[in-house]
Amino acid sequence: MASLEDVPSETIMSELLRRLRCSTKPDKRLILIGPPGSGKGTQSPIIKDEYCLCHLATGDMLRAAVSSKTPLGIKAKEAMDQGALVSDDLVVGIIDEAMKKPSCQKGFILDGFPRTVAQAEKLDEMLKKQGVKVDKVLNFAIDDAILEERITGRWIHPSSGRTYHTKFAPPKVPGVDDVTGEPLIQRKDDTAAVLKSRLQAFHSQTEPVINYYSKKGIVASLHAEKQPKDVTEEVQKVLSS
Ligand code: AMP
Repeated sequence: MASLEDVPSETIMSELLRRLRCSTKPDKRLILIGPPGSGKGTQSPIIKDEYCLCHLATGDMLRAAVSSKTPLGIKAKEAMDQGALVSDDLVVGIIDEAMKKPSCQKGFILDGFPRTVAQAEKLDEMLKKQGVKVDKVLNFAIDDAILEERITGRWIHPSSGRTYHTKFAPPKVPGVDDVTGEPLIQRKDDTAAVLKSRLQAFHSQTEPVINYYSKKGIVASLHAEKQPKDVTEEVQKVLSS
């Protein structure tokens, strides 16, 4: 880590101002549930900045583990390539570890976790030990028919998580990130064929999680087929109520 003396004053000042603004925000523990392409990754950074939460996306963490060939990545790769879920134990372990980060102090956005009822039960146990609970589950409800075009046209800037779409949100220069000029990539599992398995996994294993939280009365359903800015408005309404 760079010595604080080497960090520009403006960076320190803006971080201090951010922390000051964050100190008045209520704690929030949120779960985003929705099929691939429903917009969870688009809304997460906006919610994260507004409420000073950490954004924990198990898919991103697993992809990082796969590309650096860690033992976790080696175990997860096959299931991910096929669009199947990796084992509950693996993902519960990474979430348990990630939630300890200082950036999660005011709460978290879980994006892509829990994806099975067993994961949801494990999460509840972990939170219970800390004397806290999930505040809200945002259900990104959308018809399967819309998702194929969203997924197959998606381009990603891996280090920032910024996403583009060849038709709906093209970068200024094709294949290049607007901010850094670095190359964009397409995810290996963002194909029509793998999407079929991912949707199957969503309907059979993840939809029951919505039911699990509905019984606790904390699910808010969004119209995820709308334009991103309209979904942001719905999210803001839900979170401020
Ligand atoms: P995502 O980026 O959320 O679409 O996740 C990509 C892939 O990572 C999924 O298709 C699964 O193989 C795996 N994955 C991510 N999160 C989980 C989870 N909570 N449980 C099991 N597998 C997961």
